Amino acid sequence: MSGEEDELINLKQFLEERIALIREDYFVRNKNVHESIKADLDLPEETFNKLQNMCNPKLFNPEESQREISSIEDFDSENLSFVEYLKNIYTRPNKRNQPVEIRFLKNLAKLNELEPENEDQIQAPDIILSVQLSQPLNSKLRKLAWSEDFLVLGQNYLCELKDKITCHRDEIRIGEFSEDPESVKSAPSMKDFIKSGYFFIENCLYNDMRNENNDISEVVRKWGEEKKIGTFESKTMENTKFIDLNIKIGFPYLYTHLGNCEHLLIFTSVKLVNPSSDCYLKSKYPILKDKTRGRFTFCWCCNKIYAKWIVCNSKYAVDDPTFLCERCLKNTHYLLAEKTDEENMEVNEEQEENEEKLKKAFDFKVYHYSQI
Ligand SMILES: [Zn+2]
Ligand SMILES: [Zn+2]
Repeated sequence: MSGEEDELINLKQFLEERIALIREDYFVRNKNVHESIKADLDLPEETFNKLQNMCNPKLFNPEESQREISSIEDFDSENLSFVEYLKNIYTRPNKRNQPVEIRFLKNLAKLNELEPENEDQIQAPDIILSVQLSQPLNSKLRKLAWSEDFLVLGQNYLCELKDKITCHRDEIRIGEFSEDPESVKSAPSMKDFIKSGYFFIENCLYNDMRNENNDISEVVRKWGEEKKIGTFESKTMENTKFIDLNIKIGFPYLYTHLGNCEHLLIFTSVKLVNPSSDCYLKSKYPILKDKTRGRFTFCWCCNKIYAKWIVCNSKYAVDDPTFLCERCLKNTHYLLAEKTDEENMEVNEEQEENEEKLKKAFDFKVYHYSQI
């Protein structure tokens, strides 16, 4: 369902109303595609068999009618541009170049091959919601850009979605690394440091209060009251399931983490679980359906490699701060360190294989810049 934008949907009620409309055997899982289609179409046996014969892929090309077709590669594509197109996308060596829909369908097919353990089966009847998240709102992008697309179950808790959302700001390593850029590998990341966050859906703030997190929505609620915008409810996301929500399809809601990193969140559709065609493994949800990579910042020196460092107070930089890649930072801001006599004595084969020790050529500051 992708209804009117202003229509508030009580998801529990939505599920109950749909259950009343469907056949009893709808939630019986049928892995046989033909049987599943047959059940969905609800046609007499004879009509279905006729239809099945008419749709036989062997009739796709009359000249090929005698040939057994087991895969897309078997089709003769001389005059069939659509087959050529399919062949092309199915056989691309780099999976990343395949259209998103094909990648998702292939993954879904693989997931559906797995036989769920009893406790890992979706407790049908249930619903599946499509949820879209934007890139951070306060980023340099002027236009709104989408980042991730998830499928969540009605039975999923809101915190399960939060745990699957990725944002490049979560991966920023905390600290100033000019003395030893290599130490960035062992430095804590932002998400290790700030674990709190909230969803803002229909005037309610759902806080992540696991791990002794703070209620970071408190300041928003106070601000709302002071500015007479309204009184917002507050709940915990680890105790709220999606099925408990009232939502509007296509309406912009909010996900906030790291204190002030804001992402728009939109529900794009809601439907009943179809046990024969949807992934039936409960543990796989929320499923990441699509991920759009944001715009990358290239190194301001070589303009070839992605920037990894933010450099401040550098006497060589035209702009302050400057974004540099690893190679340009080391080549322009560091000198080979002279080894002391003691260090020379300790040199062994293993150390010789390691990179040379570097020291700062002058005073500046360096911070990590994450782009995932
Ligand atoms: Zn973010
Ligand atoms: Zn560079």
